[in-house]
Amino acid sequence: MTTETRLAIALAAARPYESRWDHDAACKGAGGDRFFEASGKAQEESRGHCRECPVLDNCLTAVVKRESFSRDRWGVVGGLTPAQRIALAWEQRLRGHGPDLDVARMLMKPAWQYRLHPLRCSGLTPDEMAESLRIDGLVTDGMTVRLAVWWLGGKGAWVTWRTQDRRVERLVAEHADVMTRLRELGAIHAEVAAYLGVEFKYVTRAVTLMEQSRVAAEDLEVAA
Ligand code: SF4
Repeated sequence: MTTETRLAIALAAARPYESRWDHDAACKGAGGDRFFEASGKAQEESRGHCRECPVLDNCLTAVVKRESFSRDRWGVVGGLTPAQRIALAWEQRLRGHGPDLDVARMLMKPAWQYRLHPLRCSGLTPDEMAESLRIDGLVTDGMTVRLAVWWLGGKGAWVTWRTQDRRVERLVAEHADVMTRLRELGAIHAEVAAYLGVEFKYVTRAVTLMEQSRVAAEDLEVAA
């Protein structure tokens, strides 16, 4: 299959142009193939179009529904990269509900951005940011805050590396429970990595370490 064919199939599958609201889409005429380039620069450009798009919520809702039957994710759609949409899908499965799109939209407004920006810069996780926003009377959850951060162009990762040391050990120490739950639900390593916002290699090593610890614990039990 040529790149052009693959691109045409991906565009047809992922874009919302068949819907009534498609006529307002900011990406219409904006160079559709740019949305399917994997480079960080192209993705940032595309996310910039989405940020200004009046049908952002409709688009994300439609693409999440459409992708719920498949592991394939192509291009920037609904303001999110493929990895972010994978993360969102697993987050919804873990929590049993989706993000509040109205609140996420509200957090993109300048007044809330002013409040959110320092929280993002201080390296807080989405849950910690949501907790902090309660001071302002906003009751929301980390998934909604994470979506707003993504829409604003940020990473919104669950894992914040505050030092370079012992990354894998820290991943196990702080996120073993969620990694185990995701794997029990059927997530593959790449999906766990997307959910946590870390590189694939760290998840692979962390899962190996968890497995070794489990076997060692079982051996100890047998020996006791
Ligand atoms: S949110 Fe992005 S991908 Fe969706 S219609 Fe708008 S510009 Fe296009």
